[in-house]
Amino acid sequence: MAFLPNDAEKALLDCGRCCCICHKFCSFKIELHHIIQRSEGGEDSYENCIPLCLDCHAEVKAYDPKHPKGRKYTESELMEHRNRWYEKVKNVGVLLVHPECIELDRNSFLKLKEILPVTGGSIAFIRNHIYNCPWLKEAHDDLNNYMLYCQNPDFEFIDIDLEIYRCKLTECIEKFIDALLAVSFTTDRWTGEQLEIAVYPEIKYSKPDIYHKAVNDIHQTANKVCSAYDNLIRLGRRKLAVE
Ligand SMILES: [Zn+2]
Repeated sequence: MAFLPNDAEKALLDCGRCCCICHKFCSFKIELHHIIQRSEGGEDSYENCIPLCLDCHAEVKAYDPKHPKGRKYTESELMEHRNRWYEKVKNVGVLLVHPECIELDRNSFLKLKEILPVTGGSIAFIRNHIYNCPWLKEAHDDLNNYMLYCQNPDFEFIDIDLEIYRCKLTECIEKFIDALLAVSFTTDRWTGEQLEIAVYPEIKYSKPDIYHKAVNDIHQTANKVCSAYDNLIRLGRRKLAVE
């Protein structure tokens, strides 16, 4: 006897055609293993089935109790592997667990960190800068580069949670740039070779209310950029296991 077609299909759907032990995406190179062997009274049931890749299946079956090497997979351990994996596929979704998709998302994540580095770039700058002091024109270049790069249709996460966080970041950066464009004013003051920018230098003292509101808007939108960025970096690290 073998597993009934309905049970086999349900098991293959629940594991996303990935091995329940090593989590490799297997496509059709997947086998259904009896957790409790049929010779030990195990049934051809969904409950007694664990989908495994060919390698893991061979290893699980290869253990010879007469010549024990390494540690055998126990039945309860196999069951636990299977249950945890089904749960993960159910919660996280099949796409993310495919190694090819993780690899694509890793590349997007690394690209994002290249354009918007954690240290030394625009994000670090807006995290610390006090906008009633002038700043160099180039300080926000990374943000503009990011917005330009977003026009590239390849630049998106396949994992839906990461993509939602990335869209949130994009939206926050747009608002920050808008807040800057609405009020910033080139002082045309050159310090050495570099051009400085400041918020409404002409009204800093004559219209302090408008000035303070403008600076405040910039700080608020900057804080939102930083927290959207931090959330995305944290989620990326957790989901993609990449530095
Ligand atoms: Zn495997």
